[in-house]
Parts: sequence; structure tokens; C-alpha cells
Amino acid sequence: MSFWKKANKVETPAPEQAATMSRQNLNELVLQSIHEGVIIVSPNGNIRLVNPAFCELAGRSQSEFDDVYFDSVINLLDKTGNRVSEGRNPINVALKNKEYGEVRDLDIVAADSNKNTPVSIIITPTHEEKPSLVVTFRDIAQELKEEHERSDFISTASHEMRTPVASIEGYLGLAMNPSTATVDERGMEYLTKAHEASKHLGRLFQDLLDTTKLDDGQITPRMEPVDIVATVKSIADGQIPNITAKGLGYQFGSGSVDQQLSGGKRIDQLIYASVDKDFLSEIINNLIENAVKYTPAGWVTVNVRADNYNVQIIVEDTGIGVPREELTHIFQKFYRVDNRDTREIGGTGLGLYLVKQRVEAMNGRIWAESEVGKGTRFIVLFPRISEDAYRQQRFFIDNQQAQGRENIDF
Ligand code: ADP
Repeated sequence: MSFWKKANKVETPAPEQAATMSRQNLNELVLQSIHEGVIIVSPNGNIRLVNPAFCELAGRSQSEFDDVYFDSVINLLDKTGNRVSEGRNPINVALKNKEYGEVRDLDIVAADSNKNTPVSIIITPTHEEKPSLVVTFRDIAQELKEEHERSDFISTASHEMRTPVASIEGYLGLAMNPSTATVDERGMEYLTKAHEASKHLGRLFQDLLDTTKLDDGQITPRMEPVDIVATVKSIADGQIPNITAKGLGYQFGSGSVDQQLSGGKRIDQLIYASVDKDFLSEIINNLIENAVKYTPAGWVTVNVRADNYNVQIIVEDTGIGVPREELTHIFQKFYRVDNRDTREIGGTGLGLYLVKQRVEAMNGRIWAESEVGKGTRFIVLFPRISEDAYRQQRFFIDNQQAQGRENIDF
């Protein structure tokens, strides 16, 4: 769709009039004409301003927003089609926790037509003493369609290329095996390099396939309530051979978030969360494999902590660390920190993208903290569920499974 078709109709001032317009009027003109929806939300959550593009997205007239609490007039849905919860509503999170940024996994529903539009929502605070929020809504339907087509192509191409690469890897393995072939020392050196490269290609295609599966909706999370400490421990313990093979120490712990912060008493209460167990496995395995890969000596520690609302899974190492300026980039597709320490360590740069993608598909968040030369800590956060909710959901899911129905979302 061309810009001109989408642009809002505004009274365009005559050229001589525009030349004399004040800066404020010009700002107003920009706001009225851009096709991104813009709103300003005051610190108490009431709306201070909306532009015409936003009125169109939300399917309401300008007057309906006047000093009204944002949540009563802005209907946001998550990818399961449910109204977004308070804890995941980005405007609420920005007001309460002062966390700003972009989310791209929500739809806005127009009140007058019930039309859903997928949007990118970017939130920035104003420079006031008590900051308001400037919230921009951009229609990303076309972008998502193109992303979907790209994923589709990558998925098909990786799938097709995986088979011949596996065959090359197999034949190189045979050529290197003294019981199936005879090669001299120099030949063996070349074959070893070719074998390494074909293994890397195989890993790359597999990682690409895994990431596109979620991107293009081939897989969706199957959420089920679990005892999160026991679940994480059993996955993490599976990595003990990998950790000890490199001569690293391993520790698993659990407790309250406060205990970690204050050294307070350990809580032995059971902690529950809703997760997809396969996704959780991929997440923890990936984080531990990275911890091992990027730690020349020392420890890998896995901890599960909780407060009343959230569960944190923390994977920590005493390895090479990640420079501060790289911390937000390492979750991007194909991003690898490029320095003397990492150059020799193999990888595809897709692991953390896959991890973040799966965490977010389960309504979680992930971030990293690190100090170069000292180590890195990855924190994965999921909403905690109460014991009652656990029992109810467990009962429901077990019943459904007994009846042979499988896909249940919580
Ligand atoms: P890769 O296949 O390169 O390991 P990832 O997406 O898993 O790709 O990680 C991206 C980059 O983040 C890595 O190339 C590495 O530079 C950095 N990184 C990830 N985990 C760690 C860690 N535990 N310690 C230090 N650096 C890490």
C-alpha cells in the first residue's frame, strides 16, 4: 500500500501560511499527518493525547480518549487471541517498572469494526520530572507477511540442504576412518578440516530449521503447569557429562529471589509455572552449552528463584564474559561477539535467538548480565502460578489427555 493512500487527510496549510507557522504548529501538523499511531499516556495511566492514525487503529473518535485510563479504550490481544494480561501489557509494564522498548507480538483491536491489526509498539518516556509515555503503534501486517515468506524459504532450503550435507559428513567420516580408507597425514589434515566444516554446515541448517519452525507457526508452545525446580533440575542435570568433560564444576540451587539478594533464609515451598517442557529443555540446554563453550575454567551454576509473582531461572558461568555494549545484540539472529577470545570457538549465532524466541513464546523474558573476564549470567523469567492454579490446570490437562485431546493453552 503506498504511503499516500494510507496517510491521514489533514488540512494542508497554504505555502505562505506554512512558512509563518510556529514550531508548535508544525509539530502538531507532523503528528496529525503521520500514519503511525501516537499516544501520550500520563504517569497515572490516563491518556493525554492521541493522533488521528491511532484513532483509526483503535476504531474510536478522538473525544473517546480524553483523560480516560488507557486500558479501558485500548484493546490489545496476544498471539493466542486473548486480551493481554496486566503483567504483559507493555504500557502497564512501562508505567509500573519503568521498562521501555519495543514489542512486536500484539494485535490492536478496532472498537468499531473488531478488526485486528498486528502492531509494533514502541514506548519512550518523556523528559518530564514525572515522565509520561510516548507510545507509537505501527501496523506491521505487511512486514510479518514478508517475514513469514522469508522463513518459509529458509525452512525449505535448509531442509533440502541438510540431506546432502549429512551425506558429505558421512563419507568424510568414512574416508578418515583407518578401517575403511587409507590416507596419508596431509590428506587426513584436509579431510579433518572438511569434516569440521560439514559438521558446522549441518548444525547451521538444523538451527535455521529450528528457528523458522516457530517463526512461521509450524510449532506452537504446548503449555502445561510444572514443578519448575524439579523440571529445571532434571534438564540441567542432563548436561553434567558435558560440563564435567571440560573439567568445569557444576552446582544447582533453588530459593527465593530475596535470598539471593540478601543472603536470607532459603524457602522450601514448591514453585510452579506454566511452560512447554520441550521449549524449556531447548532453552536450558542451549544456555548451559554456551556456558560450557565460553568458560575455559571454573563453574557453571543453575539456580531457580522465585518471588510471589515470577520465577527466575538463572544460568551462570565464570567464563570469558560479554562486553557491555554487546549484551543486547547477542540475542539477534546470526550475531556473534567477534574478538580474540571468541574467534576460535565455533558457533552459528542462532542459539540465543532461538532461546529468546522460545522464552517469549511462553510469555517470558530473558536478559543477560556480564563482566568481561569474570563470567555471564542469563536470567529467564516466567510468571509464577499458585499451587491452586497448578492443581486446577494439572487436573484439567490430565483429564483432557485422558480423553485424547492434546492442544491446551494456559
Ligand atoms: P553461538 O552459536 O555463536 O554460540 P549464540 O546465539 O548462542 O551463538 O550466542 C551469540 C553470541 O553470544 C556468541 O557468539 C558469544 O559471543 C556470546 N555468548 C553467548 N553465551 C555466552 C556465554 N555464556 N559467555 C560468553 N559469551 C556468550
